[in-house]
Amino acid sequence: MRRALLVVIALLLMLASATASQSMSVARVTGQVMDETGQFLVSMILVEDLATNTRRTHFTDLTGRFALELPKGEYHLTFQQGSQYEKVETTINITSRIPKDLKAIVLTRLYHLSARGWYGGDLHQHTFFSDGADSPLALLTAGLAAGLDFGVVTDHNQVTGQAEYMEFSCLRNGSDSFLALGGVEVTSEDKGHYNVINTSKVYPFTFVSAEDFAISVDEAKGKERFVQVNHPSRRDILGFAYWEIIDRFDGIEVWNGKDIPPLSSTNLSAKEKWFELLNEGIRLTATASSDVHSVIGNSLRKDLDPLTLAWYTRGTFVGMPRTYVKLPELTASALVQALKEGKVFLSNGPLVIADISGKAYGEAVPPGDRKLSYEILNNEALRLLRMYINGKAVQEIPLEGLTAFGHIDLTLSAGQHVVLEVEAENLGYALTNPIYCE
Ligand SMILES: [Zn+2]
Repeated sequence: MRRALLVVIALLLMLASATASQSMSVARVTGQVMDETGQFLVSMILVEDLATNTRRTHFTDLTGRFALELPKGEYHLTFQQGSQYEKVETTINITSRIPKDLKAIVLTRLYHLSARGWYGGDLHQHTFFSDGADSPLALLTAGLAAGLDFGVVTDHNQVTGQAEYMEFSCLRNGSDSFLALGGVEVTSEDKGHYNVINTSKVYPFTFVSAEDFAISVDEAKGKERFVQVNHPSRRDILGFAYWEIIDRFDGIEVWNGKDIPPLSSTNLSAKEKWFELLNEGIRLTATASSDVHSVIGNSLRKDLDPLTLAWYTRGTFVGMPRTYVKLPELTASALVQALKEGKVFLSNGPLVIADISGKAYGEAVPPGDRKLSYEILNNEALRLLRMYINGKAVQEIPLEGLTAFGHIDLTLSAGQHVVLEVEAENLGYALTNPIYCE
């Protein structure tokens, strides 16, 4: 008995000293991220442990300040805020528990799309009020850190998380504001999932009949709301299984962030289906969203193929990918209207602004000889521009560097539509909505 007690005491002492030596070797690394004008930036910090080759995503607080607790070792830190700022990378060596203050980390702004009316946001995000891991505030912080201009909370069938998300939305930095919206992912048993953007309506989990499901779509639609089919080509129960009513929707999630860009994977099937619908005259706006369930990626599947693993290794989850929308002002009604009109491109990095004879995405040009002008911007190297006419790839232009400007001469006839696709390094990808010819 006494011997057992001694063993327990010895074990406790060992545990205590192990804990003490662990905390002895952890150093606090602090600083504040700001832009080149000294304005703080909410941003993301990717921390790579060079000894174990593992990565973890961190965020600053809402004033750009950060505090990392790092055990002894060597770390590569990447500070970033979406593709409109330069990344800053640094390696630090933690040898003792002495705190390190990195002071100001300055991210230089490369582009300012919102100043030109282009706003990027995430239309599909979950909190712990449905099956996500995070609070609405954590989701909002991660969205600001990813450089989003707007975000929509879309928990499954209910709306409890909306109030907190919208309450804490705030000025991101000096002049740029953030639009926080409420939505819902209407989740049916076997017909599929669809998002209603800009609603606070609660939905039941079971629809009595297919007709009831169709009626719910009709009721959701309206001038102030955008209704899109989510992850249409998922091969499990989450895929869309009611194509008879597809023309009742405003949009289709061609790129869902659970999977790699639509060059392969279920997102490729979604893109091909979208082209098919466009060719039938059903004009749905293509969108891209993260469908995030954890801002640091904790809900990852275990069975990842190398490409999907590389996709997740980017370390960004909120806003990856996102939908860029051309707006006269950053308001809910302007956003919904522009989404319906297809003034939209999708991206996880490359920014693609193009027009044909002055007409942009969602608009139409008359038949004849036309000139397509493009401007492509990124903070990672561009690789390729591909042009599709009626869903068929007709031209490829190799790209290099961070920016590309140019034009393509083309002859268009009525009924055709033109879509651009851009590839960049590190799985960077963008897809535009069509410019039509009619
Ligand atoms: Zn879903």
